[in-house]
Amino acid sequence: MYDSKTSVSIRDVRVFTGDTVLTRAHVTVDNGLITTITTQPAPIANGTEIVDGRGQTLLPGLIDAHAHVFPGNLEQALAFGVTTVLDLMADPAAITALRRQAGTTPTMADVRTAGTAATVPGGYGWYLVEMGYLPPFPTLTGPAHAEAFIDARLTEGSDYIKILIDDGSTTGTPLPKLGEDTITALIDHAHASNRLTIAHTLNAVDAATATRAGIDVLGHLFLDRVDPDLPHLLAEQGTAVIPTLAVLDGLFGRPHGAELLADHRIEPYLDTTSRQMLGFGPIPLNPEARYNLDVPRHTLSQLRDAGVTILAGSDASNPDTAHGATLHLELELLVHAGLTPIEALTAATSAPADRFTLTDRGRIAPGLRADLLLVDGDPTSNITNTRDITAIWRNGQRIPRATHLQKARS
Ligand SMILES: [Zn+2]
Repeated sequence: MYDSKTSVSIRDVRVFTGDTVLTRAHVTVDNGLITTITTQPAPIANGTEIVDGRGQTLLPGLIDAHAHVFPGNLEQALAFGVTTVLDLMADPAAITALRRQAGTTPTMADVRTAGTAATVPGGYGWYLVEMGYLPPFPTLTGPAHAEAFIDARLTEGSDYIKILIDDGSTTGTPLPKLGEDTITALIDHAHASNRLTIAHTLNAVDAATATRAGIDVLGHLFLDRVDPDLPHLLAEQGTAVIPTLAVLDGLFGRPHGAELLADHRIEPYLDTTSRQMLGFGPIPLNPEARYNLDVPRHTLSQLRDAGVTILAGSDASNPDTAHGATLHLELELLVHAGLTPIEALTAATSAPADRFTLTDRGRIAPGLRADLLLVDGDPTSNITNTRDITAIWRNGQRIPRATHLQKARS
């Protein structure tokens, strides 16, 4: 059962608070919450476990802002220090069961979900039904259906609303897609019910359509062409962007799975599903596909200059991704594309907490949930140090990584 009553004092540790770096601080945790963060050692209550943080960095537990969760995935995410997973399309019944289970199972990451995503009959997303990953789900054909569609998602327990806007031109497989009037109606009704909206778009035109319609978050960067105006439009509208560089690479000819499988900091903690997903190799592409993997990288530097909020997301369970592991890769790719390590870490902690109003997490501050990640070295200067995990706490409870190791081997 859940035992978050332990008190812990992590001493002499570098801290990334979610906003800023303290080179040497002391953090105490009690009853599942962060209680103090001081630069002078505070007196320690009897029975407090002391962790020597010298040479290490304490981070808020990571938040994956774009994932698709199936059984086993929340354990896998947590084994890599991802304490909160934002699911962006799932079967509502299945994800509700997993969420309930995660509430009482310390070895699972916490989860929020979009549940059923909005698309037209036979439109983008329906392939998941055809492939057997999701049961058939409701679709809509016009703005008149938007209000009932949003109401049904609220009844099912969706925390936010996902809208799929994709005519298949990027992958070269033509599909019907939601009209602009329906997209606008969905966003308006979601906002009227106080729900955030996230769009799946892969090209610049669809990204601009969603942004003008008032979308809160773009779930991917676009792949077709650099658009000089879009970064300013996103900044003006306050739209956040989840670049998902790792999965775009993986799905469009530049897989990273072998790299992760060869990393001794990653490989031992992968479960069987992750090993399979990362072993996919290059995925065959339709000759009609229209993409350029330099476009999202170039766009990301434009977004950074324009002050657009960036959120880190893995888009696991796609091929060439693994829950948890791919988020560490995404952080590295964000830095390669021009973010500073601190900006990348912000994109996986305080920025998603702020955007998704997860007010109890995403930072190291008194009163917040003790979701914490302790790593060797200094990821605020070398981002791949996020993989050098020495301890993970979820809700104040230390998670033994060895459990995952044994599970992965059995
Ligand atoms: Zn996705």
